[in-house]
Order: sequence, then C-alpha cells, then structure tokens
Amino acid sequence: MSHTKQTGRLTPAPSEMHLHILEGLPGALFVVDNDATIVYSNAKAQAITGTSPEALHGNSFWNGASQLVSTALYQAVQKTKQTQEPTEVEYVSATTNNWLHVSLSPTDAGLAIFFQDHLDPPHLHDALSLNEQMYRGLLESFADGVTILTPNGLVLDINQRPLSDARLRREEVVGKLFTDLPAWSYDSTVQQQLHSAIARASRGETVRFEARIRPRTDLYLDILMTITSHRAAAGQIEYLICAGRDITERKHAEDELRALVDALPQFVWIAEPDGAITYNNHRLIDYLAMTPQQVEGTGWLSGVHSDDRQRVWETWQLCARAGIPYEAEHRLQDGRSNTYRWFLVRGVPQKDAQGTILRWVGTCTDIEEQKRAEERIKASEQDFRLLAEAVPQLVWTMWPDGRLEYTNQLYQEVTQANLHLEGDEIWRQFVHPEDIERTLTLRHEVLKNGKIYENEYRLLDGRTGTYHWFLARALPVRDEAGQVIKWFGTTTDIDEQKRLEEALRQSQQQTNALMNSDIIGMNVVEGEQIVDANDTFLHMTGYTREDLRAGRLNVLSLTAPEDRTQARQAFEELAKEQALTPYEKEYLCKDGSRLPVLVGGAVFQHHPLRAVGFVLDNSARKELEQRKDDFISMASHELRNPLTALKLQTTLLRRQFTRQGILDQASALVNMESQIHKITRLVEELLDVSKIQAGRLEYAWEPVDLDALLREIAETVQQTSPGHRILVQSVARATVTGDRDWLGQVFTNLLSNAIKYSPGAETVEVDLCVYAETVTIQVRDHGLGIAREQRDKIFERFYRVADPRQKAISGLGLGLYIVAEIVTHHGGTITVESAVGKGSTFTVAFPKEKSGS
Ligand code: ADP
Repeated sequence: MSHTKQTGRLTPAPSEMHLHILEGLPGALFVVDNDATIVYSNAKAQAITGTSPEALHGNSFWNGASQLVSTALYQAVQKTKQTQEPTEVEYVSATTNNWLHVSLSPTDAGLAIFFQDHLDPPHLHDALSLNEQMYRGLLESFADGVTILTPNGLVLDINQRPLSDARLRREEVVGKLFTDLPAWSYDSTVQQQLHSAIARASRGETVRFEARIRPRTDLYLDILMTITSHRAAAGQIEYLICAGRDITERKHAEDELRALVDALPQFVWIAEPDGAITYNNHRLIDYLAMTPQQVEGTGWLSGVHSDDRQRVWETWQLCARAGIPYEAEHRLQDGRSNTYRWFLVRGVPQKDAQGTILRWVGTCTDIEEQKRAEERIKASEQDFRLLAEAVPQLVWTMWPDGRLEYTNQLYQEVTQANLHLEGDEIWRQFVHPEDIERTLTLRHEVLKNGKIYENEYRLLDGRTGTYHWFLARALPVRDEAGQVIKWFGTTTDIDEQKRLEEALRQSQQQTNALMNSDIIGMNVVEGEQIVDANDTFLHMTGYTREDLRAGRLNVLSLTAPEDRTQARQAFEELAKEQALTPYEKEYLCKDGSRLPVLVGGAVFQHHPLRAVGFVLDNSARKELEQRKDDFISMASHELRNPLTALKLQTTLLRRQFTRQGILDQASALVNMESQIHKITRLVEELLDVSKIQAGRLEYAWEPVDLDALLREIAETVQQTSPGHRILVQSVARATVTGDRDWLGQVFTNLLSNAIKYSPGAETVEVDLCVYAETVTIQVRDHGLGIAREQRDKIFERFYRVADPRQKAISGLGLGLYIVAEIVTHHGGTITVESAVGKGSTFTVAFPKEKSGS
C-alpha cells in the first residue's frame, strides 16, 4: 500500500538554523500538509517510527507513523485543522504503551505534530491511563470486531478480534485503508461493497450489510457489518465506527436451511413481520418463473389469479396485522405455461419470547388434484344422488361417526321417521324391537372396525304400518391414508325373497324327507349313468354308495334285458318331453334277483342332460297281481272241466227229451245250454287271459281270408243275437297272415260288444277296407258310446266303464284286452271313435303285405 504523494505545496523550506533546532528537539516532529502527507520529519521522528526520511516523506502520516496513531490524535489533528489553533493531546500508544504528549500547531499549509516522550506528569498520567485502559478494555470486550476509521477509510484503531482472525499485528493495520486489508481486498466485489458503505457512512448514514470476508487464505467469515459515524461537537463527521459481527454460524445454518427448504417439494416463503416477502425457495421461484426480486415484497401478488387477488391480499394483510396464522386457497400462475393451479397457502408467524413477530414462514401446497377430485366428487355426487333417487331401494350415506348424511326420498317415505334424532334413536323408530339390539351392536362394531356392514332386520313400513324384512348393506369409503371418510349404504326390501327362501327351504325339507324316506327310491341320472341316489334306491337295488361313486350304476345295465328297449324309449321321451310317464319294468339287483319297479322322472338340467328319477318298489303289487292271475288261471281250469261235463250232459238230456217228445223239458234245457255257453265263454276268456299273462298263447300262422272270416263270424254271432242285423260290407278281398282262430276271436269279441252295448239299436255294421298300406276292419254300433277319458282304459285288463247303464250289462272287462293283445301280436293296431249316446266305431288295422310276426 502506498500513499506516497508528490505534493508541490511544501512547507516553506526551513533554514539551516531552524533545521538544526528542529533536529535537536527532544521529541519527534512531523510536519504534514492538509492531506496528512508527511513533508518533514526530524531525526527523533525517524527513530520512533524506525524508518528513513525517504520512507516517511511524501507518505501519509497515518500510515507512516502508525505506531503513534490513535483516535484521540486523529481527533486533535482534525480539531487543529478546523480551528487553526494549537492543540495538545495526551494518550498511551496502543503499540508501544508509551505515554505520549502531542502538541499540534497549524502551519500555512498543514500541521506540525510534536511528540514529547518523557513529559510524564504523574497526576495526569493516572487519570488518563485509566481512561485509556477503560477505552481499550471496552474495545476489546466487544465480541464484534471493531475498527475505527477516518471518514475516508483509514484505520485509526482496531480491536483484537479481527487482528487475530487475520493473524496481523495492530501496527500492520493502523493507518492503512480498511478496504485494502486482505480480509476485504481478496474479492473486488466485496471490496467495492465495503468501499461504498464507508462512503455512505461518511455522509452520515448508518450502513448495514452482510459480507463474506477472507481474513486469511484459509478462513472465510460471514459478517454483518454496521458502520456508524461519529460527529464532533461542531457537527462534522469525525470518524467512523465499524462493527463486524461474525454471522458465519448463522449463515451456515441459514444456508443449510435454505438448501433444505429448496429441496422441499413444497413452495416455501419467508416474510418480514409486516408481511413483505423476503425469501422464496427455488421451487416457488421456478414455478412463478419470476426473479427472486420480482417475487419479493408484494410482487408475488401478480402471480395470483386476478379473481383471487383481492381476497388473498385482504386476508394476508389482516393476518399479518393481527399476527394470526394465515391460510388461503387460491390459484397461482405457472409462469412457464401461463396456466393456473390451485394452492393451499399457509403462513405461521414466528415470535420471540416477548411475542414479537420475528418473521413469517409459509408454504404453498399444490391442491390442484385435490380440487379436481373435489370437482369430480361433486359431479359424481350429483350422479350418485340421481341414481339414489331412481333405485327402488333405501339409499343413505353416513359420516364415520354414524350420523346420517343423506337419505333418498324413498327412505323417508318408507320409514316416515324423524331422521334428525340423536344417536341410536333414529333406528329405534323403525327397526323391529326383536332386531334392534342386534342391529345397533353390529352398527357400532362396524363403525369401529370399518368392515362391510350387512344386516337383515324387520323394518316398520310407515306407510302400511307393517314390518318387512330388509337387508341393509354399507361399504366404507376411504381416503388415501385408508381412513374411513364416509359410508354408502342401501337397504333393500327382501320380504319376497325371504318368503321364497322359506318356501324353498320347506320344499327342500320335503324333498329331503322324500329322498330320505323309505317309500321312494330316487336317483339322479346323467345320460344313462346314475350319478347320485338316495339310500332307499340303493337299498332296493342292493348296491352300495361305493358302487355309486365308482360309477357302477347304469340305468340300462340295471334294467332287466327284456325291458331295455322300453328303457331306451323312456330316455327318448325324457329328452323330448322333459318328463317321463311312469312305467313298469324290472331291475336286475346286485345279487342277481329281480325287482319289479315303477319308474318316472323329470329333467332338471339340459347340458348335460340331468334328470331325477323316482323308483317305486312294485314287487308287492306285482306279487298280488301274480296271485290273482294264478287264482284266475287255477279257477278257470277247475271250472272248465265240470262245465264241459255239464254241457255234455245237458245236451244229451235235451236230445233225450226231444226224442221222447217231452218238449217242455227239452226247451228248458235249451235255456240251460245257453246259460252254460255263456259261463263257458267267460271261463274261456279267463283262460285266454291267463295264457296271455303267462305268455302261453299259441298262434298258428296261415294266410287268412279276412272277408270270408268276417262273414263267417258275423253269421255265427247273428244266430245267437237275432235282435240286431249285422251288415257286412267289404269292397275287396284281403288276406293277412295270422292265426285264424284268434283273429276270429277278435271279430267275435268286437261284434258281441257292439250288440251288447247297443241294446236299442237295430243294426251293427262291419266294414272291410283295403288301403295302400293297411287293411282295416271297422265295427260300428249305434249304442251307448264311450266317454273320451275312458277310451284308452277299456283295453286294460278287467276294466269296465263305470256308467250304470254299462255296468248293468254283464262282462268281466277282458274281451277288449284279449282283442288288443291279439291285434298287437299280429302287428296291427286297434283304435276307437265314439260319441256318448250315439255309438262307437272300433277300427282294427293290419299292415297289408306283412302280417304277423
Ligand atoms: P266286457 O266283458 O265288460 O264287455 P270288454 O273288455 O269287452 O269287457 O269291454 C270293456 C268295457 O268297454 C265294457 O265293460 C264296456 O263298458 C266298454 N265297451 C266295449 N265295447 C263297447 C261298445 N261297443 N260300446 C260301448 N261300450 C263298450
């Protein structure tokens, strides 16, 4: 640092004599110009400062004689210059600790400063040294670094703190320009910052600024500098006091905080107590796409949506004034896309122990998604309400604490309850007394554990005053954190369903009872396979459940071989009609025995076809039938021989009486013969039936001329029935292969019936017709006729029409059974057409070419 200045305005050159005197003075003399540049120094002065005249002259006094510099001296120099009066000042050199007495006298263009070393008045010394010590002590007691500067920035004094930071001695600093100290000069910006601060302070301003200084190469410090000026009594600025507070720690902490704050996903801002924004984190700055300066103060308001600005500003001002936490939702502009997003902005005042607000710290949280979701919810809520009002259910929503939020119109209509009551009272109004406690317990449980609510209870329908079964269901709706925020519920009338369930339960019970009864065997068939069966069925057939599981039960193999064709037909019928007309057959049981059964069934599933089969043990009935057949067979056999004998003897006797001319007796015997004939026919019928039953009817196959046979039979019948005229009409000759006797029996039976059941009629007609495929024989009468429902049954064994007029006519109900058996055996069919009171026509049809089997 060099303040050497070539001044042309030297003090007038001293004369030799004067020089001599000056050099011989006991103290150090400096002569300086108005800028404090040394123009002369005597030998003593050079001795004190330890420098040559060359080094001193032209140099600044404050710098060249820094060992002697003090604030007091500086003040005295200023005073002398100002007043142009000689001044004296005493002080202790901070460098040498020597007591100095200084006399200052104005010269034409400067000052003469004379230091007297040994003038040492003890009384004064004590007082002054005490003052000086106090001043020093005070200076050093500051935690801050304190530097006293001339208004143009020369260091007059400095305390230990900055010296030790810089590892400099005091004399290395005093008298130098403050801005030239290494701590400041390492960076031109920092140096400039200090320079302009000193300039402002020297104009009387108090200047405060933060700077990063470098006292030595390996040490950086953040300091808060405060420069104040000291004015002399006359008002001019005498010197400047610079206090530098080490804020490195704070800065460091702040930097860390800033880094942290900048890393936050939120926008963070800090404001002055009065509400002026001083800091915004990077994210906020980036979002707004403004410079930090643009955002500061109230600049941020320009980023707020114009619709929200007024409201936000008023709220913020109110909060800042009242010192209460600030919260507002508003739109902030995304500076890059010029779009707006919703933010929740919060600010909290930070206060000191006295409650004074130090600053505001705030955040802006992006709630755009939330807002959108809210909008969606609003929209979906509308949809929900529309739906809720449209469905035929009671719809409701509930808060997590169980209070009803919403109920649809139907809910109110059905319950007609006061839905504003407290707590459980609402439900007590309409839930059945027997169901209420259970319902409330469940409700409380579910509200606690957040599981799905499902409950059936009887609900009082306020419109009808009757209880109905309802099913209440509710689902919890949760937020992202899994917290239940609402319940959505429906309550559905399940009365009908309940009734159906009950009916089903009952019918199931009945089915089970049936399934498990010993009465009826049941099985489930899939195709021909029996896949399930009840115990009764298994018991009947002798198979086990194990056999069933192993798939050993098959309908066809279970059926006796002779019944299998019928069983196959039954399957076809089942598939076509979905149900099976019960039919009789025999089962082959596991032990090889046979079991007569009556089976029926119905389809209950189509793909694959599944049917349930009902099986009745028919053995008892069959046995009874067998016994009856056996009896008939035996009785007819037993009757036939005595009847034959009786008939023979009667005939012999009649002939004898006729020969002897006892005609009365003879004619009585004719009647007897006719009665015996009738009995014989009945017995023969019985015998024939027995034979049919036993499968012992024998057929002799031969070509039979039907026309001839018909006429022969008609003639025979005509002889015994003179009351009717039998008219035979045949248009062609027809021959079939068959048993002549049995075919004759067919026509005899049909003609006999026609006559028998048309008591008042005169004729019975027999027609023989030949068609392309068939030959038909029709026997027509004009008698009683047969009701429709009886027409199928008359071909059954022992069946007789129950009508009293028919009952009055004798018969066993076997004739048509025999007829049907014979016709079927010949491959033919028999049908009947009839009108009650008008007559009947029996039609027998045989295949034309191929007759018999
Ligand atoms: P029956 O020995 O009783 O005549 P059938 O087997 O010949 O027995 O006839 C059965 C029943 O059919 C008779 O009882 C009768 O009621 C009715 N029947 C048969 N043929 C006729 C007919 N031509 N007209 C009216 N009913 C008839």
